[in-house]
Amino acid sequence: MSTRREIEETVSGLLRKHQIYGAPVPVDRVATEEGLPIIEHALQGEVSGALISSNGVSAIAVNSAHHLNRRRFTIAHELAHSKLGHKGDQDHIDWKFTVLRRDGKSSEASDVQEIEANIFAANLLMPREFLFKDLKLQAGSNGEVELSDVQLSSLARKYQVSETAMNFRLINLGLISPI
Ligand SMILES: [Zn+2]
Repeated sequence: MSTRREIEETVSGLLRKHQIYGAPVPVDRVATEEGLPIIEHALQGEVSGALISSNGVSAIAVNSAHHLNRRRFTIAHELAHSKLGHKGDQDHIDWKFTVLRRDGKSSEASDVQEIEANIFAANLLMPREFLFKDLKLQAGSNGEVELSDVQLSSLARKYQVSETAMNFRLINLGLISPI
């Protein structure tokens, strides 16, 4: 099990290692360079993706039928399972996960590892420092910012995440209020 802070530090380390300094985070490149090639495939039903291993080779499978933003989230989530050392005897398959509650839990992810993977993914796709820079905030600022719907949506486009994901991330960082 990892704390939120440990997850954040793991993600910051990855961003530095791969020399990523701004949005959108090239999550497919990070995964590939971390030894996890991406296989895009029309997966059945509500399968979002999977972390698969065969003969010592690992890869991330992602459902090609899903929207880019969701595929990016899936890649970040599967990368998390690998980087956070989540062990399983079998390939890890992720069904539909809805990510996004203030406490980091998701409606279908009650399992600790799923929650950790979602926290990792949110940190990787929407790093705190990048958002602070884009919102022109001082480090350590925890005051709320004024953000119109148009600004929120353009921020989400820049980070290539859904508006819902961005909204929850900003709430989690204490930058906007939940209502
Ligand atoms: Zn998972």
